[in-house]
Amino acid sequence: MVSRPPDYCPQCGDALEAITLEDRERQRCPTCERVIWHNPVPCTGVAVVDRSGPEPAVLCVERGVPPGVGEWTLPGGHMEVGEEPHVAAARELEEESGISVDPADLEVLDATALEPHNGKHVVTMYYVADRADATGEPNAGSDANAAQFWTLSEFAASSERFRPVHEDRFQTAATFFTTDA
Ligand SMILES: [Zn+2]
Repeated sequence: MVSRPPDYCPQCGDALEAITLEDRERQRCPTCERVIWHNPVPCTGVAVVDRSGPEPAVLCVERGVPPGVGEWTLPGGHMEVGEEPHVAAARELEEESGISVDPADLEVLDATALEPHNGKHVVTMYYVADRADATGEPNAGSDANAAQFWTLSEFAASSERFRPVHEDRFQTAATFFTTDA
């Protein structure tokens, strides 16, 4: 498996040829006679929702690395090999925002295939956690410029920009516990 469409065989380095298999174009190595599969990359993260105020607030981070530097998103990132999705989500949350949650407390928020970016296809699995079950204070960590709780109306009134592919999830997270109750 490779993150972006492959041009060369990762095993022998020969140029790949396009073939049609199962109604899709695949890349095949003519020397090794094997198909080099191109599958989506799993990413995961957590939306932490603070329900102590009049309007729910969601923990967001401002991206410090491409793509989308300066745009706000929910904390998350790539899963490691052998890692459970909810454990990876809690790890990414802590790395980027300084907030800790017990992976066992996480509930599924959504699972989405994102629009490809430079040929990289990402599938995201997001979880939600109640701020009351989380520990620590927002503190921007790796890959983040800033970390803070935003309500939907505070964010809309600001001049900040949410990363478009994650904007719907910000809204879903903000209303998760209210619509769930
Ligand atoms: Zn090969």
